[in-house]
Amino acid sequence: MKMLAINCGSSSVKFKLFQVDNGTYRVLAAGLVEKIAEESSLVHMQWQGGVTEQNNRVASHREALEIIEMMLLDTKIVPDFSQLDVIVHRVVHGGEKFYQPVVINDEVTQTIKSLTPLAPLHNPFNLEGIMVLREKAPQVKQVAIFDTAFHQTMPEVSYLYPLPDDFYRSKNVRRYGFHGISHSYLAKTASHFLDKPLDTLHIVSLHLGNGASATAVKNGRSIDTSMGMTPLEGLVMGTRCGDVDPGILIYLEREYDLDSEKIDEILNAQSGLRGICGENDMREILKRIKKGDKKAKLAFDIFCNRIKKYIGAYAALLGRLDVLVFSGGIGAGSPDVRERVCEGLGLLGIQLDLDVNKRLNADIGCIDDGSKDVRVLTVATDEELEMVKQAYMVQ
Ligand code: ADP
Repeated sequence: MKMLAINCGSSSVKFKLFQVDNGTYRVLAAGLVEKIAEESSLVHMQWQGGVTEQNNRVASHREALEIIEMMLLDTKIVPDFSQLDVIVHRVVHGGEKFYQPVVINDEVTQTIKSLTPLAPLHNPFNLEGIMVLREKAPQVKQVAIFDTAFHQTMPEVSYLYPLPDDFYRSKNVRRYGFHGISHSYLAKTASHFLDKPLDTLHIVSLHLGNGASATAVKNGRSIDTSMGMTPLEGLVMGTRCGDVDPGILIYLEREYDLDSEKIDEILNAQSGLRGICGENDMREILKRIKKGDKKAKLAFDIFCNRIKKYIGAYAALLGRLDVLVFSGGIGAGSPDVRERVCEGLGLLGIQLDLDVNKRLNADIGCIDDGSKDVRVLTVATDEELEMVKQAYMVQ
């Protein structure tokens, strides 16, 4: 059976095609179209037969999907999308409506559309991908997997904000959380790797990429997560601020007479690591630190401190910590970040093996020194694999 995972972002479409047989998942092809509607787009696909790349302008998500279809045809893996068995779409916001994967029908697309005010930068693009592929392959089963769904198990005490009660009831203001597909994958992968049942484990998982979030997972269920009603809350990110005093917004609005669009841009695109040191890419920040750049070091320190605070808070909520998982480009890629985050966390039972931490360069590995209670793992997340596995269960 051939299953295609599709992730339509605001300016990119990522995909991974799997051959699924008797519980085994083999990647046949994977790639992305980036910088859609910009002057020069980037198209990349890797498959058993090699690599395909182009740099022509791709004007729209529809065109990106058509290019992906053409590339798959060229590889002779599938003649067109209609020959696939299942297409799985990542949808960022499922609100309170979707707490598990669903087979897409007209009612589902309508509901996703109705959730747009909660994720105006994401859901419209997710929906566009769904619409194009339903039109191109109307007979193929299509499934939606929601990035918020994993966190729907959070109790009220975690998801309600201390704001006037009416905001929740009439405007859906609550914590939803994001990166749920990744956090779900990380929890299951940790359980499998450690050979311990998921329903016995207390896990803190860290997805540290351009966007970053921490989740407390108790017995397989998300009980709290750092992103909130929007993906702005929580950890310091590449260009997003994470937690800040909301009073700052009121102050800025008054001082500079800023409107909501400008505030949105400042908090989403000009803050975080970029706001502190002018650079949002952690690899560049690490290079600058090596050259003695103090601002880069400060950005690194603030980033790591915030993560440390969340680990402590979530350990307290969980009541016991068994596993700490690092993932995302930064979490899985940077020994320096892992070392700094874990420094001084012996009180929580976290003690890294600094040599193993530096050397480890694998999809998954254990980096604690075994002397304390908490297993510390680095895991390369695989959201597409998690998507097709979840979709496989949906009939
Ligand atoms: P996204 O959130 O867009 O999926 P990624 O998970 O790929 O992004 O993470 C991107 C971030 O990861 C960037 O800041 C990048 O510099 C950082 N990164 C990737 N590899 C490494 C590495 N080996 N060491 C440090 N940072 C890394």
